[in-house]
Amino acid sequence: MFATEFEYKKANSVSEAIQLLSNDADAKLMAGGHSLIPLMKLRLARPGTVIDIGGIAELQGITANNGILRIGALTTHAQLAESPLVRDSARILWETAYGIGDPQVRNRGTIGGNVSHADPASDLPTVLVAMDAKFTIQGQGGITRRGSRTVAAADFFTGAFSTVLAENEILTAIEMPVLAANQHSEYAKMAHPATSYAVVGAAAVVTMDGNTCTVARVAVGGLTPSPVRGQSVEQALVGQELNAETIAAAANLIDNDLGSDIIGDIFASAEYRRAMAAIELKHAIFHATGLAHH
Ligand SMILES: Cc1cc2nc3c(=O)[nH]c(=O)nc-3n(C[C@H](O)[C@H](O)[C@H](O)COP(=O)(O)OP(=O)(O)OC[C@H]3O[C@@H](n4cnc5c(N)ncnc54)[C@H](O)[C@@H]3O)c2cc1C
Repeated sequence: MFATEFEYKKANSVSEAIQLLSNDADAKLMAGGHSLIPLMKLRLARPGTVIDIGGIAELQGITANNGILRIGALTTHAQLAESPLVRDSARILWETAYGIGDPQVRNRGTIGGNVSHADPASDLPTVLVAMDAKFTIQGQGGITRRGSRTVAAADFFTGAFSTVLAENEILTAIEMPVLAANQHSEYAKMAHPATSYAVVGAAAVVTMDGNTCTVARVAVGGLTPSPVRGQSVEQALVGQELNAETIAAAANLIDNDLGSDIIGDIFASAEYRRAMAAIELKHAIFHATGLAHH
């Protein structure tokens, strides 16, 4: 099916994109277009205007300063997967980016588009919640006039395909702490075989003092409308020597954090996804701690 007719506009700066968005209630931003265009072709999205932000230089770039990794919203998954800085600062993000879709998807899809689209099956929301990432959002007025705000990843996602972004706001960058040498991280997923989207995905970041876990952040996604942080699991991991028994016992507690809104569809039932959450989380923690290898 073809998309309905729309007007195409190219924004050359963030402020121009915000202006265009603010002047047109029927407009949609396009970054890599890998979620927006399929939706338009299915006529599930019918924007009157598409604002192409793909050429805005200020939305590009990966830097690490003062212990913070900053990633511009237009950074593609391929750029994440090829970046030594991301590998050394946030290994979980580096590895996850490589496991997204296929080369075409990784070459076009952006981190900003991925999280703004907020597909429950996307990998990056789950990873960014576990990494305690902060999202920088810019709205009308620009950064000098109350136009900019920062939202924690855990607060950004409000449901399936739903975020705190207002109609005329743009996500400009994502920041997260650079992982220290004693912090280990991993993302594990049961992937859909055709698209690699997560049927169930689990992310773990553990801080270790020798064999003992001192801090843990874990999250699961794919099975819930937006990623869920596993605080019961985190509490059970902290203070423990991590081994097969303690990891399995802690991961099984994820059920306490999931709630009742579990996705069931033609790919996997809600019961199956619920059961897989603990298993993928176990995989993630095992790999993070070096108890299992790829
Ligand atoms: C075949 C296929 C397989 C895929 N497999 C996976 C997978 O395994 N794992 C995974 O995580 N993802 C997967 N994806 C999704 C992909 O990774 C892209 O990240 C995703 O399509 C959106 O990124 P995009 O840059 O193309 O966004 P677009 O399609 O351009 O935009 C998506 C939405 O976000 C909005 N938007 C875009 N950028 C911004 C911004 N900076 N600020 C505010 N709003 C913005 C747009 O208005 C639109 O509503 C797959 C996609 C396809 C087509």
